[in-house]
Amino acid sequence: MTRTARGSVETSTEADVDPQPTFESLDPRTGEVVGRHPIHDAHAVGEAVTGARKAQQWWADLGYAGRKQRLDAWRKLLLRRLDELAQVMCAETGKPLDDARLELVLVIDHLHWAAGNSEKVLRRRKVSPGLLMMNQAATVEYLPLGVIGVIGPWNYPAFTPMGSIAYALAAGNAVVFKPSELTPGVGEWLARTFAEVVPEQPVFTVVTGFGETGAALCASGVDKVAFTGSTATGKRVMAACAENLTPVLVECGGKDALIVDSDADLPAAAEAAVWGAMSNAGQTCIGVERVYVVDAVADRFLELVTERASKLRPGGEPKAHFGPITMSSQVDVIRSHVDEALDRGARALVGGSHSVRPPFVEPVVLTDVPPDAAAATEETFGPTLVVERVRSAEEGIERANDSRYGLGATVFSRSRGTELARRLRVGMVAVNSVIAFAAVPALPFGGVGDSGFGRIHGEDGLREFARPQSVTRLKYRIPINPMTFGRSNRTVRRLIRLVKTFRGR
Ligand code: NDP
Repeated sequence: MTRTARGSVETSTEADVDPQPTFESLDPRTGEVVGRHPIHDAHAVGEAVTGARKAQQWWADLGYAGRKQRLDAWRKLLLRRLDELAQVMCAETGKPLDDARLELVLVIDHLHWAAGNSEKVLRRRKVSPGLLMMNQAATVEYLPLGVIGVIGPWNYPAFTPMGSIAYALAAGNAVVFKPSELTPGVGEWLARTFAEVVPEQPVFTVVTGFGETGAALCASGVDKVAFTGSTATGKRVMAACAENLTPVLVECGGKDALIVDSDADLPAAAEAAVWGAMSNAGQTCIGVERVYVVDAVADRFLELVTERASKLRPGGEPKAHFGPITMSSQVDVIRSHVDEALDRGARALVGGSHSVRPPFVEPVVLTDVPPDAAAATEETFGPTLVVERVRSAEEGIERANDSRYGLGATVFSRSRGTELARRLRVGMVAVNSVIAFAAVPALPFGGVGDSGFGRIHGEDGLREFARPQSVTRLKYRIPINPMTFGRSNRTVRRLIRLVKTFRGR
C-alpha cells in the first residue's frame, strides 16, 4: 500500500505488494512525488525507542565536552551541506530557497548555543542550605530525562523540531523524532547526517508515517514528548501521554497581534506587519495575524501596508516572495475566513476571495472585520492580515489579549514599547521589530493558553529536557538534630527560638 501525505490513499496491486508500507511526500507546487518513506507502526516505533534507550546511556556518558564535540561536528556538517538540506525543504514545503536557507541559519545558531551552554546551565551547582540546614552542603544538578519523543510540524520543518532536538541532545538525552507526514525527507536528512558524526549508537533516530505513528510515539514509554503542531492535535497528544503519565511540552498555534502606537515608526511598523503576516505564505505560528493601530496614525499606516502588500507575489520560482500553501486542506480554511469576514461587512484593502488560487494564495488585507469572525479569532495560517483601528494602545492591548491563544506579539512604539509589551498575555514580544525573539537562542520560546506550555530554546529549553536532582550532604553534626527519635524537648524549643530570632522579624 502506498499513501500520499495528507492526500489520497493508493492501494498497491498484488504484483507490487510491499511488506513495508510506505507513503509519498509531494512537492506542493507541482504535486510531483519527491520521496517515499516507510510508515512506521507501533512495533517499529517501539524498536526505535528501545534502541534509543540503550544509546542514551552511552551518549550521557560522553559528558558535556564529548557531546559538545559531536554536536559541533554536526553543526559544521549542516553548514557545509546547507544547500542540500535547503533543497529538500523547498521540495517538501514549496518555500523559496532563500527562506529555507534562512531557516537553516537559525538552526545552526541554536545548535551552537545549546551545545555551548548545556554544561553551564545543567551542571551540578551549590545552593544555600538555609538557616535550619546550615550543616549540610546542598547541590542541584539537571540530569537527562532519557529518551525524548519529538513530534514536529511542516511549516518550519527544520527550525521548529530542532528547537527541541538540539536542546534535548545537548542535555544528554536520546531522541526519536516523528516529522510531519508532509516533510519526512527533512527529518530523515537530519537523522542521517547526525549518524555520520555519531555513528556508534542510534542516539537520534527518525520514525515516519501519519498521525498514528505520532500516537504510537506518545504511547511508547518515552520519558517526555515535545510536541509542536496545532492545538487540536496537542490536546490529543496530551491525552495519550496521560495514560503513562508521560510529561509533555506543547507548542501550538497562535493568533499573534501587532500593536501600532501613535508615536511608532510607521514605515517600519508597516514593513514588519506585512513581512510578519505574509512571509512563508503566512504559515508561521508566530506570524502576525492581527494589527491594532491607534486611530491618529491609522490612515497613513493602512496606506503603507496596502502599498507594500499589493506588490507581493506568491509562486513556485526562487524569486517569488513566498511559496504555496503547503497543506492543501488549509486552503479551504483560509478561503472560509476571508469569505466569512467579507460576507459580514469587512472590507478588503488588498486582495479578496479571488486571491485564493490553490496551491497559491495572494496577499489579503482586511479591515472592519467583526471581532467574533474567524479571521479575527482563529489561526488563519495564510498570507492574510486583519487591521483594525483602536482609540489607544491600551485598547489595542485589551483586544490583543482577548484571545484564547497567547504565543507571540509585536509592539511598535518609540516611547512605551517595553511597558506595553509587559501587559500582553503572551510568551514572547518583539518591540519595534518582528519575530526577533525566535532568533535569540538564549530566549525561551513558547506560549500560554491554547498556544501551549513549556519552553524550547534558552536555559529553560535545556532544563525542559532534564530532571533536577537535589542532593544534600552532611558536612558536620550539630547538637540540634530534630530528625531523630532521640531528640529532647529542648531541641524543638531551641529551634523555635532560632526561628523567632531570624524569621520572626
Ligand atoms: P498538526 O497538529 O496537524 O501535526 C503536528 C504533528 O503531529 C505532525 O507530525 C502530525 O503527524 C502529528 N500528529 C497528528 N496526529 C497525531 C496524534 N494523534 N498523535 C501524535 N501526533 C500526531 O500540525 P501541522 O503539522 O499542520 O502544523 C501546523 C500547526 O503547528 C499550526 O497550528 C502552527 O501554528 C503550529 N506550530 C506551532 C509552533 C510553535 O512553536 N508554537 C511552530 C510551528 C508550528 P502527521 O503530519 O503525520 O499528521
